[in-house]
Amino acid sequence: MVLSCKHVWREISNYIEGTIDAKVRADIENHLAHCRHCAAVLDSTRNILVLVADERTFELPVGYSDRLHNRLSELIEAAPPGAEA
Ligand SMILES: [Zn+2]
Repeated sequence: MVLSCKHVWREISNYIEGTIDAKVRADIENHLAHCRHCAAVLDSTRNILVLVADERTFELPVGYSDRLHNRLSELIEAAPPGAEA
């Protein structure tokens, strides 16, 4: 299965948290291996989570997922043609 960038971005927080099915994880890793756009999104998302995790009480703030998804939606809208390959 070939994932689009939108699919990857939708699953990215689950991917980082490891709450994702092994098959989907493999598909995402496959996509990330050849999509610099998504690799950059993963890096910046992971950096945010690392900052939060440093507080040792790792809980996502209320509304975090919604805000993340809104932000990703903005990025998707702004994505150059072809980014959904
Ligand atoms: Zn991508």
